[in-house]
Amino acid sequence: MREVAEALRAELGAGAVTAGDGLPARYLIDWSGLPPGRAGLLVRPASTEEVAKVLAACHRLGQPVVPQGGMTGISGGGRPGGEVVLSLERLRGIEEIDPVGATMQVWAGTPLEEAQNAAEAAGFLLPLDLGARGSCLIGGNVATNAGGNRVIRHGMSRAMVLGLEAVLADGTVITSLNRLLKNNAGYDLKQLFIGSEGTLGVVTRAVLRLEPKPLTHTAAFLGLPSFAAVVETLTTLRSALGPSLTAFEAMWRPYGDAVVEAGVALPVEGRHPFYVLVEQQGIDPERDPERLEAALGGLMERGLVLDGALARSLADVRAFWRVRDAVAEFPRLYGALHAFDVGLPVRHMEAYTEAVTKGLRALLGDDAILLWFGHLGDGNLHLNVGYRDGRPLPHEAVDDRVYAPLGAIGGTVTAEHGVGTMKRDHLGATRSEAEIDLMRRLKAMLDPKGILNPGKVLPS
Ligand SMILES: Cc1cc2nc3c(=O)[nH]c(=O)nc-3n(C[C@H](O)[C@H](O)[C@H](O)COP(=O)(O)OP(=O)(O)OC[C@H]3O[C@@H](n4cnc5c(N)ncnc54)[C@H](O)[C@@H]3O)c2cc1C
Repeated sequence: MREVAEALRAELGAGAVTAGDGLPARYLIDWSGLPPGRAGLLVRPASTEEVAKVLAACHRLGQPVVPQGGMTGISGGGRPGGEVVLSLERLRGIEEIDPVGATMQVWAGTPLEEAQNAAEAAGFLLPLDLGARGSCLIGGNVATNAGGNRVIRHGMSRAMVLGLEAVLADGTVITSLNRLLKNNAGYDLKQLFIGSEGTLGVVTRAVLRLEPKPLTHTAAFLGLPSFAAVVETLTTLRSALGPSLTAFEAMWRPYGDAVVEAGVALPVEGRHPFYVLVEQQGIDPERDPERLEAALGGLMERGLVLDGALARSLADVRAFWRVRDAVAEFPRLYGALHAFDVGLPVRHMEAYTEAVTKGLRALLGDDAILLWFGHLGDGNLHLNVGYRDGRPLPHEAVDDRVYAPLGAIGGTVTAEHGVGTMKRDHLGATRSEAEIDLMRRLKAMLDPKGILNPGKVLPS
């Protein structure tokens, strides 16, 4: 490591390189619940050229590197195990907003919320949104192909990335900052880096597609009697609201109870078996609210919605979202919970959640915390598991019970959080041997010495 430190200091200057001992926790720990990792060195380049110099030197010396964004990842992808930590946090800022092309060119180290605010100030919407918006960085969002709250309307990060700049393991810079909506000139190279969690290249800049700013923004928070009612509500609202339905978040009762315990008020009276947060963003101030109210009225008449609160202001919309964002408060209440983000067709969800809950109760007992919630409209379910008193979980047995049924019903072990280290050895539950072999071959071609984020994504 001394040789690596000298090489990096020679390239970047002493100020950009810090010894691994005594680093602040934010470079060692993400939101996976795994214990803090270890860093050999921390290097904080301030330009693409500096990132290229770091990687060229590490490649020459065969030194493994872990790229890091805001460390809000939940799969252990940015957690170091003694490597050089390459933080992108100094590559920060909006380079350009093109109001005619409706694009934004942004550095990888820019917090998502900063990019959202810049888009809004320019009269646009950057539709990517997630609870970690204040801390996660655009490069991390691209590297994890982050999904978030509005996937049913706008798709995942991949749908918003028009172009990218990435640095390969050997320091080669691939500047592919395409701004065109249509560009079929050869392979779409950016797709290699989106969602590959820093194992194929380091993202330094991105061109993001912006959407027109919505003219209406409202939400409803509902209490429902059954999962069948949740599904019927989704189907009804999808056809009644069309593209103005931007989010459909479902929460099981124990999640609602945990939110209340975290000190966040539920917008409806009493407790219900299920809660749903519906968000609507449209362009028709006259008709949009009417459509939502009429659809909800019909659902209530049919007994599918037992109670509901309709936002009357943006402050109400934000208050409703606080219920869904309260997941960030759970570690304070319960310590680190074991978090899953599986994906599966909605038609299998009721049977799946009931079978997994039963299996986990049998394994863990009645005092285990099991919190189901998720971006239900896009098939993504979250489950947080743990004990209030912090007792350790039998992780392998818990993982098996959650992952084993997914293959047969067309599910995935990770819908949006990525594989990191936590799902690495379960990849085969929902990916074929041929698929994993192709992933290995791509990795070997782009990173022949295996220095980029080793031990992540691909099964050991
Ligand atoms: C409260 C909360 C809510 C969340 N909600 C959601 C949600 O709704 N949807 C969702 O998808 N995720 C969610 N997440 C997970 C997390 O916020 C996302 O995965 C986010 O995209 C990670 O960004 P980051 O900058 O923190 O990346 P990090 O955690 O720093 O890194 C994540 C991975 O990307 C790699 N990486 C980071 N930057 C780069 C780069 N520039 N180039 C190459 N590789 C890089 C790292 O090596 C690592 O493998 C949530 C997390 C929290 C804490």
